[in-house]
Amino acid sequence: MSSYDVIIIGAGPGGYVCAIRCAQLGMKVAVVEGRETLGGTCLNVGCIPSKAMLHASHMLHEAEHNFASMGLKGKAPSVDWKQMLAYKDETIGQNTGGIEFLFKKNKIDWLKGWGSIPEAGKVKVGDDIHEARHIVIASGSEASSLPGVKVDEKTVVTSTGALELGKIPKKLVVIGAGVIGLELGSVYARLGSEVTVVEFLDAITPGMDAEIARQFQKMLTKQGLKFTLGAAVQGVTVKGAKATVTYKLRKDDSEHTLAADTVLVATGRKPYVEGLGLDALGMEMTDRGQIKTDAKYATNIAGIYAIGDAIEGPMLAHKAEDEGMACAEGLAGQHPHVNYGVIPGVIYTHPEVGSVGETEQTLKEKGHAYKVGKFPFMGNARAKANFAGDGFVKILVDAATDRILGAHIIGPMAGDLIHEICVAMEFGAAAEDIARTCHAHPTYSEAVREAALACGDGAIHA
Ligand SMILES: Cc1cc2nc3c(=O)[nH]c(=O)nc-3n(C[C@H](O)[C@H](O)[C@H](O)COP(=O)(O)OP(=O)(O)OC[C@H]3O[C@@H](n4cnc5c(N)ncnc54)[C@H](O)[C@@H]3O)c2cc1C
Repeated sequence: MSSYDVIIIGAGPGGYVCAIRCAQLGMKVAVVEGRETLGGTCLNVGCIPSKAMLHASHMLHEAEHNFASMGLKGKAPSVDWKQMLAYKDETIGQNTGGIEFLFKKNKIDWLKGWGSIPEAGKVKVGDDIHEARHIVIASGSEASSLPGVKVDEKTVVTSTGALELGKIPKKLVVIGAGVIGLELGSVYARLGSEVTVVEFLDAITPGMDAEIARQFQKMLTKQGLKFTLGAAVQGVTVKGAKATVTYKLRKDDSEHTLAADTVLVATGRKPYVEGLGLDALGMEMTDRGQIKTDAKYATNIAGIYAIGDAIEGPMLAHKAEDEGMACAEGLAGQHPHVNYGVIPGVIYTHPEVGSVGETEQTLKEKGHAYKVGKFPFMGNARAKANFAGDGFVKILVDAATDRILGAHIIGPMAGDLIHEICVAMEFGAAAEDIARTCHAHPTYSEAVREAALACGDGAIHA
């Protein structure tokens, strides 16, 4: 039996960041991880592999569509699918290996295997029982499916199967127009698949600013993705290697079918807490199966904490990381704080979408008087030069004080540009603060400044 200050269950972005912070703050730390590699969903089957595939397929798109106009002539590259998957796997390996290195550097023990909590203060891994003053559950999430849809990870796949298909499907049906479905749908559309996205709601990307969502759908449609909205999937049948998706249109209850070589079920994720022994411990859960915590990530059981996808809040790697750091700092007696009002959300399609804070819809619901400043990337010199003029920056400010309440960007590097606004919001800045900050020319970030100017006396290049 070994004894630790903290044992963390799960080595995803929540767990590994929590472990490193605990070690930096002088605690003796171990992490239990059942996978063969560290990094959790994010590094192994989530953020990182999907971004590698988005990058590779975007390069193909650039070669096919934009090289010739820049005077770069010659045959467009063809796809070597095995090599593309190998590139993706190598990217995963570099990142998961990096976490192993950080564990060694910070003297964090990796207890290999699946852990459970027989009682507060004890963690069982295999036949070994380890003691810990504090236990942090960072067990993450798993894909959820729909009634009538049986995932086999070959023909009917979750995102995990979609990242290692045997071949590029001719016809791909994506169930669910959320972030994961649209990112992976874009990958396969660029690689030549005929992609149809079936969504229960009448708009894509629920929760996103509606104007941005409409523009986003138009852009994806231009790229070849087809959308069937307001459609309730009834089931998927598989015969041989072919699938048939049956859905009913909600407006008239009419039934339709779609044929596919591959069906991607991207209808969301649910907390993964299997095998931890939470029932026996009497752990309080929400009605959505999340572990209930207070503002310091403490559960109802003394000495047990929980963070990341396993608790409430957006299922995002950076949210899990911030909670991991804050939880560790709390255990060390500090008084950390995660600002849930300033957690950016990014979709890594091309163009990217970056959002933070309030949308027009949430402000209207709250009856909050606001002003909008917008600027199109068509007015940005760098974007025009780089064939990236589609999209715009939209900043929402308090009508009386000019304080920034939210921002939504669809366009080049939106996922990076959004952070200028995040920092501004953390400092309680007004749009004028951004507008009066000198921005280098020519950069995409000038579009953010122009949108900030548009909240006041007007943008210059619009
Ligand atoms: C396809 C896809 C793309 C995504 N892209 C993005 C993105 O671009 N940006 C973003 O912010 N988020 C993205 N996400 C979401 C992101 O991956 C998660 O929000 C994040 O990984 C959550 O981190 P976590 O630490 O809470 O849990 P996880 O990363 O899920 O890690 C939990 C770990 O705990 C381990 N574990 C569970 N139970 C036990 C046990 N009993 N014993 C031992 N080990 C256990 C699991 O094996 C797992 O490795 C994506 C997800 C998917 C599926």
